[in-house]
Amino acid sequence: MSDKTPITVAYGDGIGPEIMEATLKIITAAGARIETEVIEVGEKVYLSGNTSGIAPESWDSLRKTKVFLKAPITTPQGSGYKSLNVTTRKMFGLYANVRPCVSYHPFIKTKHPVMDLVICRENEEDLYAGIEYRQTRQVTQALKIISTTGTEKIIRYAFEFARKNNRKKVTCFVKDNIMKITDGLFHKTFNEIGEEYPDLEKEVWIVDIGAAKLATTPEQFDVLVMENLYGDILSDVTAQMTGSVGLAGSANIGDEFAMFEAIHGSAPRRAGQNKANPSGLLLGAVMMLVHIGQPDIATKVHNAWLKTLEDGVHTYDISGEGESTKAVGTKEFADEVISRLGQKPSVLKAVEYSSEAHHKLESVKTKSYDNVRKDLVGVDVFLDWNNGSPDDLGNMLTKIKAENLELLIISNRGVKVFPQGASTISKVDHWRCRYMNPDKGKVITHGAIVELLGKMREHGFDFIKTENLYNFDGEAGYSLAQGQ
Ligand code: NAD
Repeated sequence: MSDKTPITVAYGDGIGPEIMEATLKIITAAGARIETEVIEVGEKVYLSGNTSGIAPESWDSLRKTKVFLKAPITTPQGSGYKSLNVTTRKMFGLYANVRPCVSYHPFIKTKHPVMDLVICRENEEDLYAGIEYRQTRQVTQALKIISTTGTEKIIRYAFEFARKNNRKKVTCFVKDNIMKITDGLFHKTFNEIGEEYPDLEKEVWIVDIGAAKLATTPEQFDVLVMENLYGDILSDVTAQMTGSVGLAGSANIGDEFAMFEAIHGSAPRRAGQNKANPSGLLLGAVMMLVHIGQPDIATKVHNAWLKTLEDGVHTYDISGEGESTKAVGTKEFADEVISRLGQKPSVLKAVEYSSEAHHKLESVKTKSYDNVRKDLVGVDVFLDWNNGSPDDLGNMLTKIKAENLELLIISNRGVKVFPQGASTISKVDHWRCRYMNPDKGKVITHGAIVELLGKMREHGFDFIKTENLYNFDGEAGYSLAQGQ
């Protein structure tokens, strides 16, 4: 039997084929024990009429190898094309996106000479669930989904990653001063799980000031954990801060599957010119080698790459006067790395991967919430309405009642407009009408909601959606309107 690990490879679009060729050439020369299965993904597949960017038979290869080394792809413009990255992450439960960003001062120009951090980004939910609607003529909506399970998994992953990789601190970014329920869950879970890691320093920042600190004093950060959108944006920022977005690799980790890539895209303007920096994908491949149990090869490749940078051999994106001795193209860069296999950097810190430092966790156990008591206590009915003032609407809806359900408030874009709303508030055609039991806190029935909607229909109201209001163990599972 072959001792080689089968991996699935996709050459991607734009600069993808060039950087993949360079990457495979380097890791093969280093002795990587891999057997590649090539699949076609990306632009060509999309344009052939497949809206997910991957042919059904390619999934078979991925299901078999469970390891995917993927070059960036181009998603054609226009609606109807689903992001292959998002689909792959969801199909294979790749819940953790690990993005290390390191400065290579003084060999690569950066405003932040001391920077060595890892962003652990939640990878399956948040606004990336892709559930969007246009609900009225004026209002569109996207659902931000944050689950207890998704949150527990990424936060536990970040703490375990920190421990296994001898990191000292885990920082969480949230926006729970505004999103008290979704980001509030993330914050609370971070605090709870953090208690199990007394050996690690912990801190939480509101994402806006946290991002500002990250952009100006990255040396204060070590491992960071955050939701999908914040992580997507901030990992591009931190990669670029190290000198080039072309320098960072990324691992997408699930219980059984893993995908490795560069964090950047297909840079179509640079395609076919032998110019692109293959480093991001190469570092993705280094993480893959660690993941498949070849830390020796990962160490060899990474150190030869560091030595190449140190020797001033640079692609166009990182070359600069004073730092570079030799400007090279993609192919030449690969050859330069290969010629240094076996060498270590002398100024930059050499790496030494162990089989412990892998990125995969044993399947993460998550808490059961089966015993949480859930009580239906009201309903928000959203209306598309444009026929008058908030008081006009409020006065009409006050008269529409159902069993144990009466109008409590109306809000517009989250701000209370009835009763006694401020006249200065600018309004759109999208109204949230909150009905609850007048006997405060008492439960209602689904039947009452159906009855209410029936009456609204009789009065000609266009209800565009409803959102049930629940208490969980007596605690409100819904936000209050501003001013309520
Ligand atoms: P991009 O990351 O492809 O490129 C932005 C700029 O960064 C480029 O113009 C180039 O100057 C520089 N750059 C990026 N990678 C480089 C490298 N390896 N070497 C040197 N310079 C590099 O971002 P974009 O232009 O916004 O997106 C282009 C396409 O890539 C889009 O179709 C987008 O959907 C796709 N994309 C794919 C992935 C992925 O497959 N994982 C990720 C992001 C974007």
